[in-house]
Amino acid sequence: MRDKASTHHDVIIIGGGPAGLAFARSLAGCGLDIVIIERQPLEALADPAFDGREIALTHRSAGIMAALGAWDRIDPAEIAPLRKAVVLNGGSPFALSFGGEGEGQDRLGHLVPNHLIRRSLFHSVARQEGLSLITGQAVTEVRADRDQGLVRLADGRCLTGRLLVGADSRFSDVRGRLGIGAEINRPGRSMMVCRVEHEGDHGGVATEWFEHGHTMAMLPLNGRLSSAVLTLPTAAMDQLMRLSPAALGQDLTQRYRERLGGMRPVSAPYVYPLATTYSHNFVGTRAALIGDAAVGMHPVTAHGFNFGLQGQETLACLIREAAEKGRDIAASLLLRRYEMQHRLATRPLYTATNLIVGLYTDERLPQRLVRHAALRAAAGLPLIRQGVTRLLMQHR
Ligand SMILES: Cc1cc2nc3c(=O)[nH]c(=O)nc-3n(C[C@H](O)[C@H](O)[C@H](O)COP(=O)(O)OP(=O)(O)OC[C@H]3O[C@@H](n4cnc5c(N)ncnc54)[C@H](O)[C@@H]3O)c2cc1C
Repeated sequence: MRDKASTHHDVIIIGGGPAGLAFARSLAGCGLDIVIIERQPLEALADPAFDGREIALTHRSAGIMAALGAWDRIDPAEIAPLRKAVVLNGGSPFALSFGGEGEGQDRLGHLVPNHLIRRSLFHSVARQEGLSLITGQAVTEVRADRDQGLVRLADGRCLTGRLLVGADSRFSDVRGRLGIGAEINRPGRSMMVCRVEHEGDHGGVATEWFEHGHTMAMLPLNGRLSSAVLTLPTAAMDQLMRLSPAALGQDLTQRYRERLGGMRPVSAPYVYPLATTYSHNFVGTRAALIGDAAVGMHPVTAHGFNFGLQGQETLACLIREAAEKGRDIAASLLLRRYEMQHRLATRPLYTATNLIVGLYTDERLPQRLVRHAALRAAAGLPLIRQGVTRLLMQHR
């Protein structure tokens, strides 16, 4: 990897998060000159700090990570099997479950800490031929016309490229600078993630529990550890964050009705303000958006990065094919094909997720009755449950 950017590149990727890194890796070996611009310092990319997120990856995503040479870089002891998922509604004893019923795999998917995904992807591109990395730099200008894309950095450097790719998170600055709008939904809630040790055995089962006033998920990690994921209105979350670790453990134990016995935090809590985003377009003139910059999912269906991996793979395949045939890698038709395929892949679940979240966080009586009925109806329809299970597992 060269440490200085040249002034002209084939592909300029803005954002060295997991989507940007995976995309750069997907283009390895096709002779393109690629540069990644990341505002964080190099050390934060090479050895990212634990950020509380445990990412549920589908089988398809694990396959993509393996093909990128990133999966084998993750210590297997850090990968936890997700065997079954259960959805609970309020105080009802009824539970809707997915997986664990002879789906032909021992697990629905895998849980992997986000910082290890980032680290493994970084090291898989670290010595990639034809790839430069510029870190610790803010972007001050982004524009593109029919001939080329242009990016100016805070230190005055100017980069031009045949294709600009925005991989700079759901609050993408690149998207705005390219004049692409987005649906942005801020429900006024925050999500806390925290590793907890508990007395009981989770059995590899993830639980999503829509309780009145809060939503709580428990994601099973190896041993008697889980990731507690609590969603609250932002003001209530601010209060919760004032608790000592011991008091937080007690609070979580009570909220979870001692289903796993006493809980004790073994990491700091990390809070993420919730916002879902869906770009009006995933492409513009000589430009494309990938990862959360294109589709910022609500974490409840655990598909944000799964979609990010899928989308970057779709775009990279089209670009590789064009490069091999000596065609324009940013041709309008190529970019439109990416947009169409990625929209088809993501829009249904994005919309369904937001509807589910809306329904299950609405405390009015009719909504509570509807969600109870919806869970029971889904439980009585094995084809629906199998369909959702297959969606969650995503075999190739
Ligand atoms: C609590 C939580 C739980 C989640 N659980 C799951 C899950 O179970 N399964 C799943 O699939 N997904 C999950 N997700 C979603 C997943 O984390 C994201 O989809 C994924 O991180 C998106 O990757 P990205 O590279 O697109 O964006 P990011 O991870 O946001 O990375 C963007 C990068 O761009 C950089 N950047 C931003 N702006 C600029 C700029 N102007 N110039 C240069 N660099 C810039 C940032 O520093 C960052 O490195 C979860 C998210 C949260 C918050």
